[in-house]
Amino acid sequence: MKYSEFPYKRLTVDSQNALMMDWLVRFEGAESAEDQITVLEEVDDASREYASYVSIASLNFSRNINDEAAKSEKDYYDSIGPDIQEVYNKLDQAVDASRFKADLTEKWGATFLKKIEMELKTFDPKIMDMLRKETDLRNEYTKLTAGAKIEFDGKSYNLAGLGPFHTHEDRDFRKRSYAARFQWFEENANQFDDLYDKLVKLRHEIATTLGYKNFVELGYLRMGRSDYGPDEVANFRKQIVDHVVPIVTKMLEQKKAILGLDHLYFYDGINFKEGDPKPKGTPEELVAGAQEMYHELSPETGEFFDIMVNEELMDLVNREGKRPGGFCTSFPKYDRPYIFSNFNGTDHDITVLTHEAGHAFQCYSSRKQPLVSYLWPTMESAEIHSMSMEFFTWPWMKRFFKEETDRFKYKHIAGSLSFLPYGACVDHFQHWVYENPEATPKDRKNKWLELESIYLPNRDYDDIEFPKSGGIWQGQLHIYQMPFYYIDYTLAQTCAFQFWIKSEENREEAWSDYVRLCKAGGSLPFTGLVELAGLELPFDDGCLESVVEKVSNWLDSVNVSSL
Ligand SMILES: [Zn+2]
Repeated sequence: MKYSEFPYKRLTVDSQNALMMDWLVRFEGAESAEDQITVLEEVDDASREYASYVSIASLNFSRNINDEAAKSEKDYYDSIGPDIQEVYNKLDQAVDASRFKADLTEKWGATFLKKIEMELKTFDPKIMDMLRKETDLRNEYTKLTAGAKIEFDGKSYNLAGLGPFHTHEDRDFRKRSYAARFQWFEENANQFDDLYDKLVKLRHEIATTLGYKNFVELGYLRMGRSDYGPDEVANFRKQIVDHVVPIVTKMLEQKKAILGLDHLYFYDGINFKEGDPKPKGTPEELVAGAQEMYHELSPETGEFFDIMVNEELMDLVNREGKRPGGFCTSFPKYDRPYIFSNFNGTDHDITVLTHEAGHAFQCYSSRKQPLVSYLWPTMESAEIHSMSMEFFTWPWMKRFFKEETDRFKYKHIAGSLSFLPYGACVDHFQHWVYENPEATPKDRKNKWLELESIYLPNRDYDDIEFPKSGGIWQGQLHIYQMPFYYIDYTLAQTCAFQFWIKSEENREEAWSDYVRLCKAGGSLPFTGLVELAGLELPFDDGCLESVVEKVSNWLDSVNVSSL
């Protein structure tokens, strides 16, 4: 079946409620664990169906944001989200009170009940209206940023359209493109401040209504983190400051040499004088190259990628009306993932074919997991699959970058490493924000600057006012829309680097560890998955230090003048 043939319909709250009444009666009246398991398996089938329709509705809208019919389907599913949560919350409560919990754990492992326990801690019918408000505010942020019209050199661009100019080889051009970008943020500063202020206060109110001191604990629960908390994360951030920041500073010295500049400003984000490496070939050629690559990589990936191609489960090339960005989604009822992206001729096109395909490969590999809640892991684990696949495909990068392959690899490693301090900065900032819900927009900007001086001490915005006054984070979607979703990338990167190191030493073993990890899906929490994959836990003292040392040695071994 091709994507376009997947059945889709609108499910109503009433129909789901009716099903739930029946399940609840049967579940609560069950005489044996088997009877409860039968009910939960029916619920699981229904959840797969619901989740698939939500994904289809959202994806179709992303594929064409001007399609009114697609928009109304997405709006429909957005609007019933909290009601459906309320319906399923009743079952979660019944499961939590079951006298057969030990048998349920034996059947599905401890993660099943743990997830339900956490779910219960994040919801109460009392907060439904606030949840609806939160969705509206999130959508307002999307609308504000997606609607940007920025005049630059006589033409009008949106934020994504302006993006490629920020890495233009002409320095003055780069700077002016950033100035135009931040001018737009400056003009909308009140709206950005106001929106975030409302979100922070609303989330604080949701948290206190549920009985929490502030939003931090609830934020962790929403991210499904059952096995670590703010203390472990704070310790990890400290390791980034101690071990990564100095190396990034050293790398920037290397970059000055590559670019032939005395001083680096924020807008000098390019890697090479002539600009960044570009993939060689048309989108069709790149996909054909990826198909060959995945066949050579392993039988599993070959089979997977054939399905992606044959069943039309990818929409890769940029076109008018498509939502910007790239992501992977899935339709659990049909056992299939989907990759969405906007190819625009940059090296990022290849990263989509490796990063998003890593997510999709994991989702495909875990399709035999017995529960829909086990298909995807929590985010810090999910990003291990994607970021590691970027490294596992290194031997084939020659196919895409030809004579620019070494440049691509250098950029890939240097970029991955310098991302860590930024990721930690975003995370630290969010902890402070939710611990201080009464802070003013001005306080937040000052705090950001203070944190920047710790994590990104080399940043110099020159005379560009908006970022200089501490507002740059307002362009980071996660901060508005997915609180606390960010440290995930840095934890996953630390694991992906381990796979990279391992695959250089013993590729076969590294690959089999990776496949095992993918198949496990979300059946274990982060720490359990890391152990299953034979990796060191990023929180452990010494882990990051030893990983970074190897990455740094590799960077030192590169003869940058030959790139
Ligand atoms: Zn990802």
